[in-house]
Amino acid sequence: MRIGTPKEIKNHEYRVGLTPAGVRELCARGHEVLIQSQAGAGIGIRDEDYQRAGATVLADAAAVYAAAEMIVKVKEPQPSEFPLLRPEQLLFTYLHLAPDPTQTRALVDSGCVAIAYETVSDGRGGLPLLAPMSEVAGRLSIQAGAHAMEKAQGGNGVLLGGVPGVPPAQVLIIGGGVVGYNAAKIAVGMGARVSIADRSLARLNWLDTVFDGRLGTLYSTADAIDQALATADLVIGAVLVAGAAAPKLVTRAMLAHMKPGTVMVDVAIDQGGCFETSHATTHQNPTFVVDGIVHYCVANMPGAVARTSTFALTNATLPYVLALADKGYQRALLDDAGLREGLNVHLGRVTYRAVAETLGYEY
Ligand code: NAD
Repeated sequence: MRIGTPKEIKNHEYRVGLTPAGVRELCARGHEVLIQSQAGAGIGIRDEDYQRAGATVLADAAAVYAAAEMIVKVKEPQPSEFPLLRPEQLLFTYLHLAPDPTQTRALVDSGCVAIAYETVSDGRGGLPLLAPMSEVAGRLSIQAGAHAMEKAQGGNGVLLGGVPGVPPAQVLIIGGGVVGYNAAKIAVGMGARVSIADRSLARLNWLDTVFDGRLGTLYSTADAIDQALATADLVIGAVLVAGAAAPKLVTRAMLAHMKPGTVMVDVAIDQGGCFETSHATTHQNPTFVVDGIVHYCVANMPGAVARTSTFALTNATLPYVLALADKGYQRALLDDAGLREGLNVHLGRVTYRAVAETLGYEY
């Protein structure tokens, strides 16, 4: 199969859909790979690196779209890319169609076959192509939070790990899923005192076993959160209720019980945020202050560490890319029910129920 990867053009998107390692695997199986020139430039992957792995480097996106049977990228196509999509062309990328009627219409009208990373499942309720970005965001949340705790950033001037004779920071993590676990791992590793709150007793049980006494677990109620907020120096919001907006677990009234300069990182901001006072921010201007509490609410946290994020994402996507290339999409989808759940648009029809229902397409 002929596989193409264009350079990402969404604002401040430096990730890339295929790495040279992926190119090499595809070429070894007899596929042809076309990469747009400078596609990896933002994260230090040069055109020569792709060429050495066996890719052909093409000058512009139009040439890649025109030649490729499958497009592998990171973000949803932007309006300038809509006219480049062809009937029966396979598109494998993050799409997030439900809140995006314009893109959905464009994909339907193009006649392409669009498989969305975010709805591919592993058959056990997990989302294998979202998980790597949650791992990155969870780990980064502590790094970003620790930085925001510095006085010059508006924080309370507490060092996460303390020093001998001076206690470390108290970190409260709300939501103990992929983001919460990864945040806890870094916070514990940096020597902070960590508590993690979740609604799932099974998950708390697992966390308690894995961390073996190195963190405290809390059953998540408004009361438990309110009490834990009073002593926290850093709060991480990491809840997810599948298919719903994030519940507002920290209200504005609760901020009054907190220490001034406490930092709150709302990782769940991409689902509307789990703090009442959150609003989305950018990497250029990541924080704002409400009632003396520093808020960090960047909606695309993995973009800050685009190089790590690219490798984490492509490690997860590559087995699917190989299956799609080796078997063709029809056989690959028939063989893998989890991959089939990724199919969002097929030859002029919306094939993902939630998207069809939200945007009024026949399903
Ligand atoms: P996950 O499903 O693995 O974990 C969510 C956890 O929240 C679950 O353990 C669940 O039991 C818990 N939960 C649900 N309701 C709760 C409540 N009332 N109190 C406490 N816990 C509760 O999800 P995840 O992969 O960890 O993602 C968490 C959030 O982070 C999602 O909104 C995701 O979209 C977001 N995210 C944001 C970024 C970013 O850049 N900002 C990046 C990756 C993920």
